[in-house]
Amino acid sequence: RSLSEAMGRPAKAIMSIMFKEFGEMVTINQIIEEDVALAVAMELGVDLTFKRQRGALESVTEIIEQEDAPEDLVTRPPIITVLGHVDHGKTTLVDTLRKSNVKVVEGEAGGITQHIAAYQIEYNGHKLTFVDTPGHAAFSEMRSRGANVTDMVVLVVAADDGVMPQTAESISHVKASGVPMVVALNKIDLPDINEQKVMQELASQNVLPSEWGGETDVVRVSALKEMGLDNLLETLLLTAELHELKANPNRPAVGACLEGFRDEGRGSVAWLIVQKGTLRIGDAVICGKSYGYIRAMYDDTDQQIEEAPPSTPVKVTGLDSVPGAGDHFVVVETIDQARELAEERRHEGRADTLARHSGGPRTLEDILG
Ligand code: GDP
Ligand code: MG
Repeated sequence: RSLSEAMGRPAKAIMSIMFKEFGEMVTINQIIEEDVALAVAMELGVDLTFKRQRGALESVTEIIEQEDAPEDLVTRPPIITVLGHVDHGKTTLVDTLRKSNVKVVEGEAGGITQHIAAYQIEYNGHKLTFVDTPGHAAFSEMRSRGANVTDMVVLVVAADDGVMPQTAESISHVKASGVPMVVALNKIDLPDINEQKVMQELASQNVLPSEWGGETDVVRVSALKEMGLDNLLETLLLTAELHELKANPNRPAVGACLEGFRDEGRGSVAWLIVQKGTLRIGDAVICGKSYGYIRAMYDDTDQQIEEAPPSTPVKVTGLDSVPGAGDHFVVVETIDQARELAEERRHEGRADTLARHSGGPRTLEDILG
């Protein structure tokens, strides 16, 4: 019961995970082991390890969790992750959406040639941000680290192939996270496909299509032949509207790192996504164990930009080291604060590594073995 209260999730959800993952029927008054509780929380997308640590993490958490007054909140674009079985058309879908919506690129490009971790498109005057996480494992890993950047998921299912193992895995991760999902039934241009069979397979995964009276929208598309994409974007915007996604753009920026890499000449480069506030050039930032001033900032078309409001993915330079996927970032007042926090975190990191080597559980995989 206390765990349920601490996480703000129904006790039933905990019981169901206890049964499914640990084969144990528990009652609401039962005491469960701390490590088991952490694993359950991870499954539900809640990072309790974060709450358990003190020091630097606490101050960073404080900044992240700073409440914004309702009157300061402004509608922000949805952040969407595309998941699905290999070869069902995820890459084709995101490429096609981007090609038909890409902003006109003018002027000098930033020239950092690394694949695009996220990008924004505009449809009928509304922006949508797509995050290109490499699969459901990354999706879960980010969430288990407390970086819940995704507002909704597009599950791509090829109409000729139907629900496959990675489709089913994606579904269970999405269900555990509680993030709304829209199904893109792809490759409808192919002859001899059996849509009803795929609907049946989805239903047997407890994804009941809305046309069958369920709550999941299934949109028929062909990413290759550019069919049904308007319908998909409209469905995504409607879903976003329903969930009233808002953020305060006028506060120090916080967000998460989608990936980091080292660029010859520019040093460490990080793909960040802004969740609250506005990130600006010159901001002092701590990201995971890295810190620095934002020296340069590029958008998804590699254009230099000065500031990034909520839900904007940006590539930044200026951090002293390369942060990892799922690392939170926060803007602090001075570079000294940023350095101090980063140094504290590095110490904690070492303590953490020691704990791990002495057998302390760390990830769900470690715990479930
Ligand atoms: P991913 O592994 O999910 O990223 O899948 P890809 O986007 O790489 O697509 C796998 C294959 O399916 C490629 O050969 C695509 O050309 C093809 N494909 C993707 N979308 C469609 C579609 O709508 N119709 C048809 N006929 N083929 C598609
Ligand atoms: Mg792909």
